[in-house]
Amino acid sequence: MKARPETLLAQVLGHVDETTGALAPPVHLSTTFERDPDRDYPRGYSYSRSSSPAWSLLERLLAELEGGAEALVLGSGMAAATLPFMALPPGSHVVTQATMYWGVRSWLADQDRRGAIRVSMADHPDDIPGLIRPDETRLVWIESPANPTFRCTDIAATAACAHAAGARLVVDSTVATPLLTRPIEHGADLVMHSGTKYLNGHGDVLAGVLVTAREDGFWAELVRLRAMQGAVLGPFEAWLMLRGMRTLHLRVRQCSQNALALARHFENHPRLRSVLYPGLTSAPDHEVARRQMQGGFGGMLSIRLAGGESEARKVAARVRVFKRATSLGGVESLIEHRASIEGEGTPVPPDLLRLSVGIEHIDDLVGDLEAAIDGQARARVGSGR
Ligand code: PLP
Repeated sequence: MKARPETLLAQVLGHVDETTGALAPPVHLSTTFERDPDRDYPRGYSYSRSSSPAWSLLERLLAELEGGAEALVLGSGMAAATLPFMALPPGSHVVTQATMYWGVRSWLADQDRRGAIRVSMADHPDDIPGLIRPDETRLVWIESPANPTFRCTDIAATAACAHAAGARLVVDSTVATPLLTRPIEHGADLVMHSGTKYLNGHGDVLAGVLVTAREDGFWAELVRLRAMQGAVLGPFEAWLMLRGMRTLHLRVRQCSQNALALARHFENHPRLRSVLYPGLTSAPDHEVARRQMQGGFGGMLSIRLAGGESEARKVAARVRVFKRATSLGGVESLIEHRASIEGEGTPVPPDLLRLSVGIEHIDDLVGDLEAAIDGQARARVGSGR
């Protein structure tokens, strides 16, 4: 019987060290590996910028969770996100959605200005098919649910359009995690994650992940480029990430339950213009989300304040349990005014606050946000509430 994701995660694929019987995986520090007298590397490792035993278990676990053929870990989500674009011929045409993680969007805009890649950005995911040019577009990039509106893009429909035009589909599935969505099952060619977020989950590792549906020439080029570019994951980070992943299923379940409870609680709040969360039945992409997400709708949501930008900034200033910080997918809840972080030209509405919902008690989270929206500052957690 094939083990379920929960079992694969808790037991790190059932790992037992062959020589010692240790259940906790080792930290492999060596940067270089011995050759045979005939100059071969029979164990498959030569130099740790190309391949490392520190990554092997982690990469096998990630490939297994995503239902892919192989995985690569890298030194950050950005290192992973930019690699497929770097593997394209100069001047290639790519299609993305405008609403997505701003770092990837800004990097693509830079590449477009330099003429390295020609980028068409769809204002709405429904406009993506119309921007794909048959035999010209090389890559379609989507993020689902997408930062920070958490709109969902139909992966299967987008994959069909991309493939009909001869393009590859890459999905940034950071927010969904491999537990809630497996994009390869919906037709994606590559899946990308910022491992900094839910996969590691404890806010102490910067990492990136790519998983491929199949081993082909494009994948071989990504493997080659990772070694050449050198933005690789250090052994301690790989070990910490693997350790964090052992509880991924528990964390994702709790974050998703808390986020849904918050979204439902605040959905009709008179001081909010809207709550953006794909798990709400009123969400515009709820049906898409239901089709491609199982076991929850993730731990990310945004709220838009009826009082506009100044009210949004005040709410962010008043919270005490939520922490004002960037990033997402950790055990603690975070809040952020995204428009001011992203700066000029951002498509993010100024009245929007992004929430990364953690695993705290739901009553503490609801109470904190309620008080902040109602205009009261509350006692800080741990200071004698
Ligand atoms: N993709 C998404 C959806 C993200 O949220 C982030 C980071 O916030 C990234 C990519 C980039 O990842 P990293 O910060 O690990 O480079």
